[in-house]
Amino acid sequence: MRRLKMQQAEMLASKFRADNGLGQTEPISAKTLLRKLQVTAMYRPLSDSSYGISCKSKSGRMFMLINSNSTRGRQHFTIAHELYHLYFDENPMPHMCCGGASVEEKNADTFASVLLLPKEGVYAMLSKDEILQHNIKLATVLRIEQMFQVSRSMLLIRLRDLGVISENERQAMQSIPVKESALEYGYDKSLYESGNEGVVIGDFGEKARILFEEGRISEGHYLELLKMISDGRKDN
Ligand SMILES: [Zn+2]
Repeated sequence: MRRLKMQQAEMLASKFRADNGLGQTEPISAKTLLRKLQVTAMYRPLSDSSYGISCKSKSGRMFMLINSNSTRGRQHFTIAHELYHLYFDENPMPHMCCGGASVEEKNADTFASVLLLPKEGVYAMLSKDEILQHNIKLATVLRIEQMFQVSRSMLLIRLRDLGVISENERQAMQSIPVKESALEYGYDKSLYESGNEGVVIGDFGEKARILFEEGRISEGHYLELLKMISDGRKDN
């Protein structure tokens, strides 16, 4: 597949929302969505450079591993990124997603960004001055990231892509300490911290689950195991 244009990604995300009964502007609750889509998911500590893995079995069952060492905001991005692989990737192969530079990795990132931060949903939270005069307030940034449960860096990139802030403004805002600013404005820090270790959504399959829960297998083995699941050998 070719590199998705922003507008194409917006259309795919819009279709994804419509197909799955989600409003076009509402924030997505990642865990609720995984349950609704019947994706079997597990949060496990993976290495720092890894965000997640997903695969689909021949019978259509979908699996996902999410790095519980990532911040919760980053985890939501990972889930949306993996949903792209599960629903739109033309050549889905179980692989560890590490923010790579391949076309499908970039497409998955673009999709994740527009799915989690729908344009109209973001605009609805900005004042007229913020839209027209590029003077977005830190309080607004915090309100949006908390409402849509995304990381600061992801939100700032989306605001830049929407033309709400310039690249220089993005960099200036990126340098503001995230947790301190959240606390200062009365929010809790959980969005910006890791979590969910050991959380399982759906039925991971007994054998796989025991292996995962005992933490006996390495990251390479996760991949092998998921490949086996997607080949159908461990399915059902
Ligand atoms: Zn990926």
